[in-house]
Amino acid sequence: MKHPSDSPSYDAIIIGGGPAGASAAAVLAEHGHRVLVLERERFPRYHIGESLIPFTFQPLERIGMIPRMKGSHFVKKFSVRFVQRDGASAQPFYFFTRYDRDTIAQSWQVLRSEFDQQMLDNARAKGAVVREQMTVTRLLRDGETVVGVEARDAAGGLHEFRAPITIDCTGKEAFAANRSGWREKDPYLNKIAVWTYYEGSKRGEGIDEGETTVAFVPEKGWFWHIPLHGDRVSVGVVAEAKYLTRDGVKDPRAIFEREIGQNLWIKDRLSTGRQTGEFWVTSEYSRHSRHCAAPGLVLAGDALAFLDPVFSSGVMLALKSGVLVAEAIHEGLVAGDLGPARFAGYGAAIRTGVENMRKLVYAFYQPGFSFKQVIERHPEAAGDITDCLSGDVNKDFSRLWAQFREFVPLPDDLPFGEPLVPEPAAR
Ligand SMILES: Cc1cc2nc3c(=O)[nH]c(=O)nc-3n(C[C@H](O)[C@H](O)[C@H](O)COP(=O)(O)OP(=O)(O)OC[C@H]3O[C@@H](n4cnc5c(N)ncnc54)[C@H](O)[C@@H]3O)c2cc1C
Repeated sequence: MKHPSDSPSYDAIIIGGGPAGASAAAVLAEHGHRVLVLERERFPRYHIGESLIPFTFQPLERIGMIPRMKGSHFVKKFSVRFVQRDGASAQPFYFFTRYDRDTIAQSWQVLRSEFDQQMLDNARAKGAVVREQMTVTRLLRDGETVVGVEARDAAGGLHEFRAPITIDCTGKEAFAANRSGWREKDPYLNKIAVWTYYEGSKRGEGIDEGETTVAFVPEKGWFWHIPLHGDRVSVGVVAEAKYLTRDGVKDPRAIFEREIGQNLWIKDRLSTGRQTGEFWVTSEYSRHSRHCAAPGLVLAGDALAFLDPVFSSGVMLALKSGVLVAEAIHEGLVAGDLGPARFAGYGAAIRTGVENMRKLVYAFYQPGFSFKQVIERHPEAAGDITDCLSGDVNKDFSRLWAQFREFVPLPDDLPFGEPLVPEPAAR
C-alpha cells in the first residue's frame, strides 16, 4: 500500500545513513536545507571499517563531530606498522612526524555500530529527518531526471519521497551504479577478506596501543590488527581467493586459523586471546562507478568508489565525499541549478584522491616491492608516503609516483566519476 501523506518535498534525499550519508546530511541540514535520510537498517547496526586515518579529522571537524570523538571511549591511534612474516617489525609510520599531534595526527579505532550511530544522531541534531528501516527500492524519474525515490518500510508499506536531488550513499550496494550499469571492477585489485574479533589478546603499550598493524602472509596477503575499546581486537586476513582457499579449504574459520600460523607476530598477539562472534567474509573489492552524477542524482562514499581497504581509506573518503557533495548541492540549491555538470569538480576531486591512494595500494601488492626500498634510495619519500597513508590524498604526489616507478609499474588512472550530462535534445 502506498502512503501518499509521505510526500512532503525535501531539498535533498539521501539513501543510506553510513558515514557518507550522515556527513552529507549534517552539512545540508546545517545550511538550512530540508534533508531526508532513508536508511535500510535499524541503528546501531554492525559494519566493518573500524580504523580511521588522520585526514578524517577535517570532515569530522566540519560536521562538528570532534568534541564527541574526543569525549568518546574510542581507542586513540597514532600510527600504522608493517610486520614481516617472521615477526620483524619496521619502524611505524607515526602521523605526528608530519601533522599536529593534538589534531590531525591523532585518529581513532572505532566500533562502527557506535560511530555510525553518533554520526546519524549528529545529523539529526542539525535538523536532518532520518527514517530507519526504510529500504529504497526504486528511483522515481521524470523523463531522464531522478525526482525522488520509492521506499519500503519494515511492514512492507511503500512510500514515495520527492526532492530535486537524490544522493546515493548506499555503500557497497551501489544502488544507482548497479541499476544503471555504471559499476566497474578494478582490473588490478581483486581480493577476498575473512575477519573476526578477539578478546584478551596482546596489544602494544602507550602510544602504540592503538596502532593499526598490517602483518604479511605469503603471496602479498596481509592481516589487519585493529585494537578497539573493551579489550576487543578486529583481525582479518586479505589475499587472493586462490591463495586463501588453497588445498580446497573453504570454511572461513579454517581459512582464518590456517593463516594465523603464517605470521609469527599475529600468532603471538592472538595467543592469549579468545575468538568471539562470527567469521565474516567479503569478496566485494575495489570497484567504482563510471559516473558520479546524472540529472537529479549524485553518488557519494563507497557507492561512488570503493578501494581495497589495506590503508583504511574508506571512511575518510566517504566523509570527504559526503561533505564535498553537500557543499556542491548547497551551492546548486542557492543558484537554482542542480544539473550534473555542477558535480564535475566534486567527481574530479574524489577521483584524484582515490587514484592516489590506489597507486599506493597497487605498489604495495607488487611482488618484491616495499616502501622501505623506496625510502632507502629516496629518503624524502618517507614524508610523502606518510602523507598518503594519512589520507592527504589530494596533494600532488607526482614526485613519489616517479620514485615508485623506478621499482614497479603503476596503473593508469581509471576513467570514472565523470558526471553524465545528457546531450541537448535535437531541435
Ligand atoms: C574488509 C573491509 C575492511 C575495511 N576496513 C576499513 C578500515 O579499517 N577503515 C576504513 O576507513 N574503511 C574500511 N573499510 C571501508 C569502509 O567500510 C567503507 O568505506 C565505509 O563504510 C563507506 O561508508 P559509506 O557511508 O559509503 O557506506 P556504508 O558505511 O556501507 O553505509 C551505507 C548505508 O546504506 C544503507 N543502504 C544500503 N542500501 C540501501 C537502500 N536500498 N535503502 C536504504 N539504505 C540502504 C546501508 O544499510 C548502510 O547503512 C573496510 C571495508 C572492508 C570490506
